[in-house]
This record gives sequence, C-alpha cells and structure tokens, in this order.
Amino acid sequence: MSLKLSSKIKNINTDLIYNKLVKKIKAYNPDVDDQLLHKAYLISKKYHQNQYRKSGEPFVVHPLEVAGILADIELDQISIISAILHDVIEDTDYSLEMAKKEFGQMTTNIINGVTKLDKIVFSSKEEQQVSNIRKMIIAMSEDVRIVLVKLADRLHNMRTLSPLNEEKRHINSIETLEVYAPIAHRLGIYQIKSELENLSFKYLHPKEYVKIKDMFNEKLEERKSLVDEAIKIVNKKLKEVKISADISGRIKTYYSVYNKITKQNRKFEDIYDIVAIRIIVNDVKSCYAVLGIIHSLWKPVPARFKDFIANPRFNMYQSLHTTVIGINGKPLEIQIRTFEMHKFAEYGIAAHYRYKEGGFKKLSEFDKRVAWIRQILDWQKELKDPRDYMESLKLDLFEEEVFVFTPKGKVVNLPRGATTIDFAYQIHSDVGHNAIGAKINGNMIPIETVLKNGDIVEIIVSKTKKGPSRDWLNVVKTSRARNKIKQWFSKEQRQETYNAGRDIMLKILRKNGLSFKSAPLEIFEEVAKEINFREVDTLFRGIGSHKVSAHQVFTRIVKKLSQTKPKKELTIEDIHKKEAEEKVSSGIKVSGMEEVLVTIARCCNPVPGDNILGYITRGKGISVHRNDCNNVNTLMSSEKQRFIEVVWDKKAPYKFNAEIQIEALDRTKLLRDITNVIGEYDLNILRANSLRIDKSGHVKFRFLIEISNKYILKDVINNIRQIDSVYDAFRVLPRK
Ligand code: MN
Repeated sequence: MSLKLSSKIKNINTDLIYNKLVKKIKAYNPDVDDQLLHKAYLISKKYHQNQYRKSGEPFVVHPLEVAGILADIELDQISIISAILHDVIEDTDYSLEMAKKEFGQMTTNIINGVTKLDKIVFSSKEEQQVSNIRKMIIAMSEDVRIVLVKLADRLHNMRTLSPLNEEKRHINSIETLEVYAPIAHRLGIYQIKSELENLSFKYLHPKEYVKIKDMFNEKLEERKSLVDEAIKIVNKKLKEVKISADISGRIKTYYSVYNKITKQNRKFEDIYDIVAIRIIVNDVKSCYAVLGIIHSLWKPVPARFKDFIANPRFNMYQSLHTTVIGINGKPLEIQIRTFEMHKFAEYGIAAHYRYKEGGFKKLSEFDKRVAWIRQILDWQKELKDPRDYMESLKLDLFEEEVFVFTPKGKVVNLPRGATTIDFAYQIHSDVGHNAIGAKINGNMIPIETVLKNGDIVEIIVSKTKKGPSRDWLNVVKTSRARNKIKQWFSKEQRQETYNAGRDIMLKILRKNGLSFKSAPLEIFEEVAKEINFREVDTLFRGIGSHKVSAHQVFTRIVKKLSQTKPKKELTIEDIHKKEAEEKVSSGIKVSGMEEVLVTIARCCNPVPGDNILGYITRGKGISVHRNDCNNVNTLMSSEKQRFIEVVWDKKAPYKFNAEIQIEALDRTKLLRDITNVIGEYDLNILRANSLRIDKSGHVKFRFLIEISNKYILKDVINNIRQIDSVYDAFRVLPRK
C-alpha cells in the first residue's frame, strides 16, 4: 500500500501523532514501557522513511493510527507495538530476526502473522470462498491479537479509502463487508464491526448512504428529545425502587438502519427507532427488575423481547432487548445489561486482551483462550441453543482443517494432514494425474509434503506423464484423491486387458490368413451380442482376461463370414456386376434414391459409425458430412432444405479416409514404429507429414489413412498411443 513517489507529499510531524498515541495508552495503562514503545516508533519511522500513502501522508502515520485504534479498545502493550510494526516486514528491509531480538518472540509472531494475512487475496464473492477466507484468517492466527491488529489495520485503511480509485474502493469495501466485519462480529467487537460496516456501506451504496444521513439530520433532534423524555421517566421510576443505573440514548448506525429498511422491506418514513435507550445496571437481578418496570410503563411490542442473558448469542453477547410503544405511540428500543456484559458487548474478545495489572497470567491459560476463540469463529456451527454451543466449546473443530492458497490467491480448504497431491486432485483430476512436483511458497518440495495453513501451493504438471503413482495411495488424505487415483488405475487396467484381448484375437486371425480388415466390426458386434457381451470392447476385455475363449469367438466369426460370402465360383458376369457396384458404392444409403452419386466430404472425412448428413450439391450428387462439421453448421442456416438423411450401408465394402495426429518426443525409429502399427492393419497411408519439431524435440505427425470403419481407427489410435515416447494420438476432427 506504500507509494515511493507522490506528487502531493504532505509534511506531517509524525512525532505529534506518536505523542498523542502515548498519551492515550498511558490513560489506561500507566505502566507501559515508554522506551520500548518509542523504539518501535523509531524503527517504523526509519524503515518506512520515504514511503508515502496515496493521500501523500508519510507512511508511518498508518501504523501509528492502527495502534491508536487498538489503544481505543485499551489493548495490551504487545498488541500496540505489533501494530506500530505491522507493515515493516512486508514493505521494508526490516527482518523478523531483528524484531525478535528487539521485541521478543510474542510480538514477532504477531507481526509475522499479520504479514501472512496480507497475502490472502479476496477473489470472489461466492459464499463458500468468503467463508473459507474468514476461517483461514482465524486458522492462521495462532494468537488472537493477530486478528485484532488486522482488523484495526483494515479499519484504518477503510477510514482512509477515498484517495484510492473507484475500483479499489469497491473491492476493499466488499471485502470488508463480507470478510472483516463478520470476523469483528464473531469476536464480538461491536465498535470495530459497526464502523467497518458503515464505511463499506458508504462506498458501496453512496446514494442510499446520503439518503439515510439526510434522514438522520432531519429527524435526529426530534427523536433525541423523545428519547430524553423517556430517559427522564425511567430515571425517576428507578430512583423510586432504588436501582442505580446508567441510562443513555444510543444513536443507531446508518448501516443498521439501511439493513432494517432492506431486510424488513420498510420505508424510510416508518423508521422511528434511530435512537435507542441503553440501561446499564450492577447485577443480573436488576436487569430483570428494570425490564419489569419498563414493561409496566409502556406496552411491549410482541415478539420483540429477547433474553440474551439466559440465552447468550454465539459470540457470548449478553443483554435484554425489548421494544415498547413509547411516548406519542412511537416504538422505542431498549437494551438492559450489566457493566460486565456491556464491556463484553463493546469489546468482545478484545475485552480479554485488554490491559490488566500483571498482564497475562500463564501461557496455558492463553492457549485455552485461543482454542475457545476458534470455537467461536466456526461459521459452520451456528447453534441455536447456546447450551449446545457451550458444549461444543470442548471440541476444537479447526484442528480438522487446513487452509491453503492457489498461486492466484484462491483459498482451498482441505482436511488436516492433506498433501500437495490432495491439493492437486482438489484443483482438477488431470492436474493430479499429471503432477510431477510442487512448490510451496515458491520452493520446490517433495510432492507428498503435508500442507500447513497459509501455504501457497503450486503444482507442476507434465504433459508427457502417464498417470499417478501407486505409492500415492498410501500418502493421500482426501477420499477424492484416493478415488481418482484408483479410477485411473482401473481404467488403465481395462485398457491393458483390452489390448491383450485384441492381440490374442489378431494372432488367431493371422494364423488363419485373416485380419481385422477381412473380419469387420459388424461381424464382431454380432458375435459379441450372441455370447452376451454388450459391445466389442467388452468382448475383447473378456478375451484379454480369459473369461471367454478366443477360439470360441473365432469359430463364430468364421461361420458368420462364410454365411455372408457367396460360395459359388464367380462368373464373368458376376465380376462385371461387382465392379460396377464398387464404382458407385460409397457405403452410404440414401433413402428413396438408389442410383445417386454419393461422395464423402473431404472437409470432415466421416467414417462408418460417425453421425452423418447428406447435402444435395448442385450437379455433383450428394456429399456426406459429419453432423458436427463446420460446413454443415454454415450451410444449415442458409440451405436447410438441401440436407437429407443418409445412413451407413453396413453391407457394402468400402474405404474411408481419416486423418490422425500423433504427438511425440522425437527419437530414432519413431516413424518406423508408427508406420508398423498402421501396417499391422493393412491400412493404406495416403499422406503423411510432420507438422512441427520445436527445440525441445516435440514432434507432430499427421497421417491420412484409408480405413473401413471407426472401430479399426480407434484400435489403430490406441496402439499408436502405446508406442514409446508417443504422448498423444487422436483423430483430427472438424474444429468446433
Ligand atoms: Mn497496514
């Protein structure tokens, strides 16, 4: 947030701001270590020298003001010093080692914690992400004072938001409203929470803000006098029954009024209770006594009475709330509580960290408090019954989770003990499968490293890698990663069984002078169905896993082939007829047209099995395209009527062209190995070219081959993929 150069540098005597701060601290903590405080100031001033804020103020004003906010809620010396130094690690040459030497471990931990929190990027308004960010802030804060310094830092930044540009103001305001104000609320720090909300409201809804402000200006005096009158009446009554009380009028915040209008769908004119009464008494008994007196004076509004003394709020807030029909029939809101409750209502958790004689008692007690705070901050457990809540305090739920970032700042929530492999699978299963290494906070680490709160995790993936390692199953913590890894292996297993089955089948065919070309897919499909296999793939896997005999299949294939082949010798006439057929045979049936010229479109080279459409050309018969061909899309819009339905003719002998692309790392004899595989199927290579070889040795080949059906094509591609150093092979399809 610092600016090295500014055109409008302001000359401010920061010593004066510092002196004011010291005075404020001394008022509640006369024992503060002046020298240590002054040292912190001098270091902050020295290291932030020549840094300016957008407003032109010297940067050191900011940490001093942040410390001032903490002094307002009377926090201890460690919190104050940490606040003065909260930005030096991130923005200057000052180091944690130096801080430790001069201010001790506890202060250094807080400064370090705040510095880490600064790295959290608020990237989305999505509820899950927002909730994760809030949780992460808490999870990363080993010491609650880290959160307190961060809240004060955010509050001062919000107070000084106007020099920033519109977009930054907007982002900061949303973040404040969604992340920081709820944290302050959870911690019960009413003062900070309400100011954060109000400032965000001002920047997010400037028109509504002004409207409510005007309404306050207009009505406040009138409301105040009504309330003053009510206070007089209550005072008199309480004196009669000898209850001593501190009664005051409390002006509501703009944001709370705005909320009331939007959430309860009320009109500005109907909002009367912009001033409320607060009655503070010595003990709980008096709270209920006062309540009784109030209800005897004015009629209570039904359903508006709430007993937060018997049933404290999740953040331990206690008070009695009631609304009565007061003077002139206008509603009046009244809160009744003890001084102790009031202190907690204003300062929340900070009340525990306020300056006390002797400071902290023991570290163990401090630890207990931290555990307690984490309970309070568990957003998932918003319990209706506070007794359950008190019960749940015994468990430390955050122990179960860890929060880390992607390099882009997205928060990922994982179970404790999760590794970078779990993280990779959480991002995407392909990222997991192809992960070869990882960086945490910029350093290369072993991939099975266990993650810690706040780690920035980057996964290194390889294009050439062929799947996860089996050892990972012993390391991963999440069921997602485990399932994905298992799935990968079972899929690979299936592929292997399939290949084995296909090889067995091919060997038998070869032995008998046949090939996949002479025994086409349709024959295999029929045989598969006969012996109760859903498709040819499962049939081959059955052969590969020896669940079905390859010989049994072969016998059936031969039988089928002999049924379709004419047994008698061909006559000259037959040969002529066949030649004529082959000339026109395109392998396509066009309904209602027998003698029509059919051509296979070259733009998309459909093969049997593909979904196809016929296009009636001008004078060149019907051209057949794949459904998803780009040209079909274009022609459809203008010449829809020229399209007709066509189907593959399963009986016809024919050949089709298909283009396949192969990507590999170049090596000797690579091309030979590829052409060998294609040759294995007796396929004709019509065209071959090598597309690109870059410096790293990556090479791409394209082959245009003649094939008889989709099934063979799939098989060829599968086998090419098995070739060493080939990392991908696929059919070139029309671009979508
Ligand atoms: Mn700051």
